[in-house]
Amino acid sequence: FSTASGETIRATLFPGDGIGPEIAESVKQVFNVAGVPIEWEEHYVGTEVDPRTESFLTWESLESVRRNKVGLKGPMATPIGKGHRSLNLTLRKELGLYANVRPCNSLPGYKTRYDDVNLVTIRENTEGEYSGLEHQVVRGVVESLKIITRQASLRVAEYAFHYAKANGRERVSAIHKANIMRKTDGLFLKCCREVAEKYPEIQYEEVIIDNCCMTLVKNPGLFDVLVMPNLYGDIISDLCAGLIGGFGPDTPVATSVKVAFCLAEAVHGSAPDIAGMNLANPTALMLSAVMMLRHLQFNDQADRIHNAILKTIAEGKFRTADLGGKASTSEFTNAVCDHI
Ligand code: NAD
Repeated sequence: FSTASGETIRATLFPGDGIGPEIAESVKQVFNVAGVPIEWEEHYVGTEVDPRTESFLTWESLESVRRNKVGLKGPMATPIGKGHRSLNLTLRKELGLYANVRPCNSLPGYKTRYDDVNLVTIRENTEGEYSGLEHQVVRGVVESLKIITRQASLRVAEYAFHYAKANGRERVSAIHKANIMRKTDGLFLKCCREVAEKYPEIQYEEVIIDNCCMTLVKNPGLFDVLVMPNLYGDIISDLCAGLIGGFGPDTPVATSVKVAFCLAEAVHGSAPDIAGMNLANPTALMLSAVMMLRHLQFNDQADRIHNAILKTIAEGKFRTADLGGKASTSEFTNAVCDHI
């Protein structure tokens, strides 16, 4: 494969566990048909803990993403037991994936409770209540520290406004509970306001999290881009996935001045109950791959693949069982390829 200029892009692929390899195969097939100039470097989760990463992910796998700066990740079953770091935490920390970006769109032709959802949640991914700082003060009393820093808040706010501008979005809503968490969420809001001033063309508003939940459930069409601290983002992004039927792409992105890592992943898990049965729905991983293509500015191929997925679902002839159909993974994938 090569781009118009003859360039081949290398990207890391973690097929993952359970249904992961089957749906990763679907993405490869679709990329082939669309002529995407990407060469995959495949990495699997190891069977032993790598002492260099303290995780089942090897140092070589992480180096692959660092080198390529872009990757696609299938679902990974976190091995049970002590003495190792969770796979997702390892990826997040080692690669500094500080913003978790989840677009949430209604699928035309697939009826859910709402048909006008078109929003994006951007979640700070490194601190807040998930800083891992918990301890017992005395017997029966525990304490957990919520960390909010100016640096991480400015970084995610900057990403949210940059994303809004780059994607033709009109409004950024900062979600908070600063009326109670005056210092922590207060600092988060202060940082959002500072960044908002640099983007006068994007509307900015602040919404208290409880009000945000009610509005999302009553009228999700009112939101555009939402930016928020870690814990709120974890909950709100799943609430939003539920509004459109439960699945969607999930892309933690990290950028710094010179390097940008983009690791796109599906929200769902490894679905061990249907693994190896050719029943899995590859849509979420395909849509994540589309986000990866947009990050690489392969907008033409991204549009073609995205439209083909939407058409296949809207037609309804080849839907997988989770969407009420009878099609296998390969039948659905072939239909998407036909539409491309
Ligand atoms: P799950 O998402 O794997 O499965 C929940 C239900 O949804 C199952 O009935 C499954 O069959 C169905 N399902 C999920 N994805 C589907 C798809 N693409 N097509 C059709 N049906 C699908 O959640 P779980 O059972 O709680 O977790 C299983 C494993 O996945 C665990 O080991 C968990 O740690 C891991 N997990 C990984 C990630 C990740 O890597 N990002 C996320 C969640 C769970």
